[in-house]
Amino acid sequence: MKILVAVKRVVDHAVRVRVRPDGSGVETENVRMSMNPFDKHAIEAAVQLAEAGHASEIVVVSIGPKQSNDVILTALAMGAHRGILIEADGRVETLAVAKLLKAVVAEEQPDLVLLGKQAVDDDSNQVGQMLAGLLDWPQATFASAINVVDGGLEVTREVDYGRATVGVALPAIVTADLRLNSPRNAALPMVMKARSKPLAVRPAAEFGVDLTPRLKLEKVSPPAERVAGRRVADAAALVAAISSELSELEAL
Ligand SMILES: Cc1cc2nc3c(=O)[nH]c(=O)nc-3n(C[C@H](O)[C@H](O)[C@H](O)COP(=O)(O)OP(=O)(O)OC[C@H]3O[C@@H](n4cnc5c(N)ncnc54)[C@H](O)[C@@H]3O)c2cc1C
Repeated sequence: MKILVAVKRVVDHAVRVRVRPDGSGVETENVRMSMNPFDKHAIEAAVQLAEAGHASEIVVVSIGPKQSNDVILTALAMGAHRGILIEADGRVETLAVAKLLKAVVAEEQPDLVLLGKQAVDDDSNQVGQMLAGLLDWPQATFASAINVVDGGLEVTREVDYGRATVGVALPAIVTADLRLNSPRNAALPMVMKARSKPLAVRPAAEFGVDLTPRLKLEKVSPPAERVAGRRVADAAALVAAISSELSELEAL
């Protein structure tokens, strides 16, 4: 099986994001960037499928500025075989990302495309679903377990009411949830080896996809400051405090 994995470079999940003063987005200058956490689970799943003898090649693709080769190198250090960076500056909306991935799928002919269930910068939760729609492939989103069965996959999905297990025929799209696995930290020799693995850099224009944004970003604003919590002496005081707060809210 050949696996294509999509990885996105985002503001590191541990960084406290700051909104730009003009409300045009969040600060990304001089901010630590790293691989979208869900994508690490997608790479780990691909590497585990290769280690179990189910996958012969893992190709990793990222769409973004040239610095996105960082996250491709991380994926190569974790065990992916080669990388493709589709260079695009500025905002690339989810539909354009899905169309670019569709073009890569046409070239690479993978049996499985693994993605994160969402990117933590815009939380759209759309690319996997859109790609499945564009390709007319089966999809299993929010995967917390993937098993190879009879040439297809059995995928356990995190759903609102618990877990659902679905069977998908290949080729298919699977999006990774956090419970899928524990992504490995690449050891130094793997990090060194990653630099000698093939990494093709290609301009987005080569793929003939219109990257013009279709959405107008009106404004990004920070959430309201959290009010500090307070301690109460016992359960009776807690009930009294809640009743008082509710009365105040009702009075508004
Ligand atoms: C463990 C867990 C934690 C989560 N935590 C969060 C969280 O913190 N914050 C958050 O925002 N979300 C969270 N979610 C996601 C959220 O609860 C829903 O699962 C998510 O919004 C579903 O998105 P979807 O596009 O996959 O849903 P879908 O089921 O595909 O539905 C998308 C939309 O399609 C339409 N639709 C779907 N089915 C039908 C139908 N039969 N008929 C007509 N219209 C239909 C509806 O408009 C629906 O809203 C969590 C989910 C899980 C499983």
